[in-house]
Amino acid sequence: DVPIHRTTDLELYRELDEFGPAIEELRRLAAEVAAKLGRGRVWMLSSTESGGGVAEMMPRLCSFLADLGIDTRWLVLKPDDPDFFRVTKALHNMIHGEPGLVEMEAAHRIYDRVSREAAHELRQVQRRDLLVVHDPQPAGVAVHLQEAFRPTLVWRCHVGTAKRNACTDEAWSFLRRYLDSYERLIFSLLSYAPQECLERCSEVVPGIDPLSHKNRALRPYKLVGVLRAAGLIDGPSVPDWASFEAPVHRFREGAWTTEPIANLLHVPTIVQISRFDRLKGFAPLLPAFEHLLSRGPSEAKKRRVSSERTESEISRAHLLLAGPDPKGVADDPEAGEVLEELCALQAALPRELRERVHLLRLPMADVKQNALIVNALQRMALVVVQNSKQEGFGLTVAEALWKGTPVAGADVSGIAAQIRDGTDGILIADPTSPESIAEALLRMLSSPLEAETMARTGRARVRDHFTILAQIRGFLRAFDRALE
Ligand code: UDP
Repeated sequence: DVPIHRTTDLELYRELDEFGPAIEELRRLAAEVAAKLGRGRVWMLSSTESGGGVAEMMPRLCSFLADLGIDTRWLVLKPDDPDFFRVTKALHNMIHGEPGLVEMEAAHRIYDRVSREAAHELRQVQRRDLLVVHDPQPAGVAVHLQEAFRPTLVWRCHVGTAKRNACTDEAWSFLRRYLDSYERLIFSLLSYAPQECLERCSEVVPGIDPLSHKNRALRPYKLVGVLRAAGLIDGPSVPDWASFEAPVHRFREGAWTTEPIANLLHVPTIVQISRFDRLKGFAPLLPAFEHLLSRGPSEAKKRRVSSERTESEISRAHLLLAGPDPKGVADDPEAGEVLEELCALQAALPRELRERVHLLRLPMADVKQNALIVNALQRMALVVVQNSKQEGFGLTVAEALWKGTPVAGADVSGIAAQIRDGTDGILIADPTSPESIAEALLRMLSSPLEAETMARTGRARVRDHFTILAQIRGFLRAFDRALE
């Protein structure tokens, strides 16, 4: 039973002004669920209490539900069995379409043994309660709960892909015998759900927390301070605002004037922030940038949508690629390799271009500092790119849009769920093609007004669909259906 530090107060979100109606709706939905639960509780069950998005979100989720009058506790299953982790890691890969388990029946035996033991540990859970099991690792407990104590069961799956192949089919057929016990299954996108379970499935899209360090408003001096402290920019801590010229209206939460005040690096920046992982599509961004700079200004002129200012903005642009310092992420050996590949690509660029590509290794030791840096970078960017080859959701897209920064994102399921092409941002048709990426960037950079309009529309969409409040709304609706 993980102690929950009460970190949120729902009413704080009302002060953000935009969330009043959403909070009212949550209260109404929560009252309905609470009435159905009676004296029952909600239990969350996951397989880790630190590391990863699920663990990060859990305390906030639980304390929100508690704020809404639903007694919610978090339990962590901690199996101490390397065989079990081998099985669940293989399952994870298979759900994403890669090969995994070979000996299915042997894998079931291991999975069942650990799940049975875990189910015996769930003594506090009662029949009147609702148990929400997160991800494949603990999913097996459902079949081993004693009938007399069996609560209403919901499974929340945080992983998945819309693409199907023999591996995904095998993963779902492995999990099927456990999932059949659940009243309701929740997926991040309905297209990730196995077809045969669709009638029991709900969609709860991931979302950002507008009050977290990663997304909260940053005043310009704070923003500059964060970047200076991280050694990312030089100069005085109180900048001479008059000499700056970038989109500072984004730094001033709420105000949408295009008053030119500051550009932190005095240049327009194209920014991607992600783990250094091949699937994040960093590598094609370098040739795309080269392409943009060599053809961009004349192309922009031809299209006659740009002004001299935008042409010069394109020719002065810098590319900033940021991710966790590989030294700080020991569990991800690939990160170092990916960064080295990017360094080699950078070194191969002509000198004047090389100086305009920046590979940033963000410090990871201090979680708050890391979050503030990500926040500042997403705010100062002229355009945020997310060129992933695959993306379950892609929180960085919602994070950037929330800050009013225009986003060009790859046309893959998670990102396409957030960006309607040409409305909330631009979709890159082929994230492996430098021409396709350059085309999207050029469209963004050559018509700044259109880009700002899209960002504003995107921000409203994030507010309505991709925040933690929207997630809780999704959970409450799914709980309500499960308790029917
Ligand atoms: N992120 C971060 N520091 C970094 C790089 C990324 O905090 O140096 C964050 C990023 O802001 C986002 C999360 O890590 O909140 C990544 O989530 P996303 O859904 O974009 O991709 P994932 O890493 O889960 O595949």
